Amino acid sequence: MIIGVPKESEAAFYADAAYAEKGARIAASRTEVFASADAVFQVLAHGANDKTGRADLPLLRRDQVLIGFFRPLGSPETVQETASTGAMGFAVEFMPRITRAQSMDALSSMATVAGYKAVLHAASILPRMFPMLMTAAGTVTPARVLIVGAGVAGLQAIATARRLGAVVSAYDIRPATKEEVRSLGARFVELPLEAADAQDTGGYAKAQDESFYRRQRELLARVVAESDVVITTAMVPGRKAPVLITADMVASMRPGSVIVDLAGERGGNCELTRAYATVVEHGVTIIGEVNLAGSVPYHASQMYARNITAFFLHLMKSGLPQVNLEDEITRETLLTRGGEVVHPRVRQALGLSPLAASAPQRASLGMSEPVKRGGSSDAV
Ligand code: NAD
Repeated sequence: MIIGVPKESEAAFYADAAYAEKGARIAASRTEVFASADAVFQVLAHGANDKTGRADLPLLRRDQVLIGFFRPLGSPETVQETASTGAMGFAVEFMPRITRAQSMDALSSMATVAGYKAVLHAASILPRMFPMLMTAAGTVTPARVLIVGAGVAGLQAIATARRLGAVVSAYDIRPATKEEVRSLGARFVELPLEAADAQDTGGYAKAQDESFYRRQRELLARVVAESDVVITTAMVPGRKAPVLITADMVASMRPGSVIVDLAGERGGNCELTRAYATVVEHGVTIIGEVNLAGSVPYHASQMYARNITAFFLHLMKSGLPQVNLEDEITRETLLTRGGEVVHPRVRQALGLSPLAASAPQRASLGMSEPVKRGGSSDAV
């Protein structure tokens, strides 16, 4: 096993010596790591890493396994560039949300960390305290926190804000979240708004039309105006994040209030969010930082490492570079192979025709007739 650890990664507080103690050899250069390894695990691979991702392309080779975040639907053209190296890329973003894959779900791990840190960020900036305090100097009223989007990050944000003593409300388009929100001690904001077909089979929210989002903004306006902190996490896979907080809604908040927009990278749930930046508008601080998980590097690294290890051991069962496309986890995460983009949704995003599909793929794509018959389980 070879691990190349650039010095700056010690910022996660894992020293080179700790890797060596576990039997890893520290490579002298990034080039050596790629040249010597049959499998490379990255946090951000080309596509998700705008700064140095492209520089890794010439280092990749045919059938080399590459596991990481690729932002495959955000920048599908970069997936094609990775494919052209011949490497076998697996995107952790596509991990299916099934019980069997929970230990491999890096997206959930990072969302958990981000939800926690979003609350701490807001609490440190807010000019008020979170808990109610009865002191000799009088009573301090608790902060009011609104969470929009009660998925993995949102639920963690609720739990963290409650632990700090805030009064927490939350809203999600998926009715299934009501009980989860309440079980964490938060109030579920009931909006007289029926989402058509709110949830897909994977548990993700489905996109709604613009008239739905307009109505949602109108109905949320009052509760936003009454909140000291708003944390937004509302996302729809493969789409721009819906705008749920307008500039007027920001202006209606008390000066000093804080919005943390965890959908910043996807365009933001708040109209005034600037990705990667913190801005102050109408006296309200709006945080659009995109990688909050990276600001808790010790545990984010630990969780990611455990997810990737579980995933790799799973892939190893088929004897890499052989892959078992009958297996949902393998099939859903496999991005590139043999010089081609093989993931159906990424091919679709690139305007490429579908490849010959295996039976399970045909089923998951809703295809009644096979594109081509007679393939092995390894047909992609
Ligand atoms: P996500 O990051 O895609 O979105 C965050 C939340 O925003 C979701 O709850 C979504 O419903 C919500 N949302 C979307 N549009 C909205 C709108 N207009 N207004 C308000 N809220 C809106 O979602 P996620 O956190 O990745 O979780 C998605 C689902 O997957 C959840 O049901 C979660 O429980 C499930 N999940 C399952 C597993 C598993 O079984 N292995 C693992 C992780 C997550």
